[in-house]
Amino acid sequence: MGRASAHPGAALGCLTVADTVDGAALTAWVQEFARLVHEQRDALTELDAAIGDADHGTNLDRGLAAAVSALDTEAPADPAAVLKAVATTLIRTVGGASGPLYGTFFLRASSALGEGDGAALAVAMRAGLEGVAARGKAEPGDKTMLDALGPACDALDEALTANRPLDEALRAAAEGAARGRDATVPMVARKGRASYLGERSAGHQDPGATSATMLMEAAATALAGRG
Ligand code: ADP
Ligand code: MG
Repeated sequence: MGRASAHPGAALGCLTVADTVDGAALTAWVQEFARLVHEQRDALTELDAAIGDADHGTNLDRGLAAAVSALDTEAPADPAAVLKAVATTLIRTVGGASGPLYGTFFLRASSALGEGDGAALAVAMRAGLEGVAARGKAEPGDKTMLDALGPACDALDEALTANRPLDEALRAAAEGAARGRDATVPMVARKGRASYLGERSAGHQDPGATSATMLMEAAATALAGRG
């Protein structure tokens, strides 16, 4: 165990959340993310049609379908290997900005993932966020996926620090992401294709922040009941 868990059960050493965020749990997370993106593919693409090139939903849907099928075939038991397989598949199959960015999120999360409890997951997600920021050179307020991932990681850390159980903390993270996504509407894009529109990008919800909210909602759904 690399770090002390913020969960009270873990601190007491009784019913711990350790080992609950295992390879199967992370696989379920990715499957749920893929399901949500597939279901909302056209809506994501429409958002991208307004301020980009109308491919975000189809891009991500294709990449996540490939990731789910890679996980089916390889079935890695090791949690870090699950995230790494997703990363390499997304980088290989998703064109545009979001493939390398989501790939970086999962790759950094994979490298940072310690023992599989809630605190380790929060550390991994924060590392993923920092990877996206470094790779895309975006800052909060630039109207990108970071504007959903940032508030999500902040809410997750805050909830775990307050000793709330993992499922509640992940719900708070999803709510943080959704607030961040909604806050992208009035923003003027400073990164990616939407930035070519300048002021005209205001008044539209960012597609990447929308899919990043699905990523966090998928975590809340798939990992519920695991601590
Ligand atoms: P592309 O813009 O290449 O067509 P996508 O349509 O798949 O790629 O993804 C667009 C989304 O990627 C944007 O809505 C935004 O959230 C995100 N994005 C674009 N550039 C960056 C960046 N530099 N940093 C972080 N996110 C970015
Ligand atoms: Mg696009």
